[in-house]
Amino acid sequence: MHDEPIDPFNGDPADPASGLHDPGDDAPLDALTDVERQDVLEDLADLEIYQALLAPVGVRGLVIECEDCREPHYFDWDLLRGNLRHLLSSGRPRVHEPAYDPDPDHYVTWEYARGYADGVHDTLTDGNDDAPGPEEPGGEEPRNEETGREEPGRR
Ligand SMILES: [Zn+2]
Repeated sequence: MHDEPIDPFNGDPADPASGLHDPGDDAPLDALTDVERQDVLEDLADLEIYQALLAPVGVRGLVIECEDCREPHYFDWDLLRGNLRHLLSSGRPRVHEPAYDPDPDHYVTWEYARGYADGVHDTLTDGNDDAPGPEEPGGEEPRNEETGREEPGRR
């Protein structure tokens, strides 16, 4: 009959509830948990990859559906990185300051960016050893009709 969830702070002197009435200056409020911190670090790492892949094809940043405003916000790469770093250091998200007057065509979702990165990764992986790629030098691609191949009935 152990239905109750285990109290993660049971017996822990760092129980956040014990410090509620002790506004220490140097104690960071709402510090991220290790898991949250890891998530942010992974987002930052993903962001580097996405920017490296997508910026060259004209994507300026990511669009994120805001749960507060119920509308999409557009973030430039630098702004996103700044927000994530701010979250890491302060433990709280920045008040959202989306890009000014963005062109939605230049922003993609996290999901799109992730799929794009996966696709590029798969392409690179597939092209490696066993499967000869389509750009194999010296391929014996049959010529098509428009390249001047002799056709019957035209001589
Ligand atoms: Zn918002």
